Amino acid sequence: MNISQPSPVIPPARAVTDVPPVVEEQLGSGEREDLVARIRTLLVERDAVLVAHYYTSADLQRLAEETGGCVSDSLEMARFGHASKARTLVVAGVRFMGETAKILNPEKRVLMPDLHAECSLDLSCAAAEFGQFCDAHPDRVVVVYANTSAAVKARADWMVTSSIAVKVAAHLKDQDKKLIWAPDRYLGDYVQKATGADMLLWQGSCVVHEKFKADGIRELKARYPGAAVLVHPESPASVIELADVVGSTTQLIRAAADLPNTVLIVATDNGIFHKMRAMAPGKTLIEAPSGGRGATCVSCAHCPWMAMNGLRGLRHVLETGENEIHVAESIRTRAVVSINRMLEFAARTGITVAGRSGD
Ligand code: SF4
Repeated sequence: MNISQPSPVIPPARAVTDVPPVVEEQLGSGEREDLVARIRTLLVERDAVLVAHYYTSADLQRLAEETGGCVSDSLEMARFGHASKARTLVVAGVRFMGETAKILNPEKRVLMPDLHAECSLDLSCAAAEFGQFCDAHPDRVVVVYANTSAAVKARADWMVTSSIAVKVAAHLKDQDKKLIWAPDRYLGDYVQKATGADMLLWQGSCVVHEKFKADGIRELKARYPGAAVLVHPESPASVIELADVVGSTTQLIRAAADLPNTVLIVATDNGIFHKMRAMAPGKTLIEAPSGGRGATCVSCAHCPWMAMNGLRGLRHVLETGENEIHVAESIRTRAVVSINRMLEFAARTGITVAGRSGD
């Protein structure tokens, strides 16, 4: 008798429809200098350190580096904060980054310039719905990307970054495990193809990366035949197929510096260009098209939530102590398990994850 297997339930990713417009901070003449001077003083007075993501403004990245903070990806931001002696971490990025910093640094105060700075991946994956989905597939190991809330990390068995996701999935496949993957369907598809693992993919996506256009990149390649294409794996498969290098933000910056090509077509948030220019001086950096034929982009190569971080907000939270990140201890103690599982795997297998987070 032929007994057919039941079809797996398709995950109910929450549609993220209310994407805000990208609004960059506009500063009047002299205001930038005044703000920077005031923030420098406040960082010292408040025993605080600024950790900024690569996608934030050049002003914030410059200030973080000039004041002894760091500019990096989400995991390294949290790890830097852990190593720092400062009692307050000011996280310029999006909410899940502030939460990750708090999960790994519960004894420190974590502030953010704007608590409305979200992430479409995080928003697509509400903890309650995700929990129901996991409950419906109790035979599967739950693996989540860094771009998730503390509550979703608390429900997971593993948190992974993009640099280690393939290796963790391959490791679990070797143990005959089947996986749930959330929330980015494009990164999940990339990992699934690379490993052949049995993965149920949550259907979230990044509003920035999913808009890059393969046709536009092909046209650029025709115009610049010697160009290398650098792609973040949150991009669609058709774009990843054109890549010379697929990697996380830190990996793409390293590739920009190391590759012999003098022209680079870059498919990730254009905030990364500030650091890439510094690391690859003299090279021509071209933004991969998200507009042109068939364009539907709202954010157009820059994250609207990252753009909410500005010097005014930074000064305000340092002056007032507002916008503090809190993670309930019952959630934190479970979320830290999924993060530590990845860190221990990396240490055991000799894989470096420091400075190689997903976003
Ligand atoms: S760029 Fe995409 S993945 Fe990164 S914070 Fe913005 S919406 Fe989230």
